[in-house]
Amino acid sequence: MLVTLKDILNLCEAKGCAAGSFNTPNLESIMAVIGAAEELEVPVIIQHAQAHESIMPLDTIGPIMLELARRAKVPVAVHMDHGETVEYVYRAMEMGFTSVMYDGSTLPFDENAANTQLVVSLAKRTGATVEAEIGCMGRREMGDGSAGTGEDPEKIYTDPDQAKKFVEMTGIDALACSFGTTHGVYLSEPKLDFSVVENVRKKAHIPIVMHGGSGVSREDFQTAIKKGVRKVNYYTYMAMAGGETVANQFRMGCIPVEKNGKKYKYCYSLVESGQDAPIMYHDIVQWGTQAMKDNCKKAMEIFSMK
Ligand SMILES: [Zn+2]
Repeated sequence: MLVTLKDILNLCEAKGCAAGSFNTPNLESIMAVIGAAEELEVPVIIQHAQAHESIMPLDTIGPIMLELARRAKVPVAVHMDHGETVEYVYRAMEMGFTSVMYDGSTLPFDENAANTQLVVSLAKRTGATVEAEIGCMGRREMGDGSAGTGEDPEKIYTDPDQAKKFVEMTGIDALACSFGTTHGVYLSEPKLDFSVVENVRKKAHIPIVMHGGSGVSREDFQTAIKKGVRKVNYYTYMAMAGGETVANQFRMGCIPVEKNGKKYKYCYSLVESGQDAPIMYHDIVQWGTQAMKDNCKKAMEIFSMK
């Protein structure tokens, strides 16, 4: 069933756990994430990042995300991830997204707060939950190397006093905090400062969102959740699991064949069936979906503190 992020945050607060929030820039990932959540009977968030607009337009995937959320057997929030302009965030709300993140983290504090206030007032009309961010997590979803990369990570950790002021000024429902995590494939072992989560939580009294779980251990995820993280954004390693599985199926690759004087390329997989079989596109989709689903289930088990 389609619910708001606030509904899910309340469920997680009561249980002392977090919900996974997964990017779904294609039908396969939507089915993988909702399928995993249904098997584990946990609430879940599916999200579309503005950075993914080039590989999947919001106007195409948004209505599909909403429809599959409505049909799901578990609570599903449909969320706009890292909306960088108020206009884009508003489009998602108009479409029926039950939650949005406005990301003004690269702007000066006052400008970020003013834009976030505007998003909160627009969200009141549709009932959407609002997440915002201060501090900076570095590379965005597409790993484009924008803000934060190469800087001393401590300089960009969220300041708890600023967080308190920001939450009071804007009236947001959840705050994305920077405490040492990074987006994309991790380049060095992340060093997490859990005191940031603890202090922001104490001062701002708000559910914390953790972005960039790349390279984070089970123990560190669960420590962060114990300190007050209630939503964990997760994508890179799920997408890589799908990609790797498909690549493994292609170990034999394609070979040139000649038939009736014509030259063809014939692609074989010896893995699936144990014997030569042509590769069909629907098989590729299924391999990828299953691998992403398995990966999601592992992440969901960690976040639900099982
Ligand atoms: Zn993020």
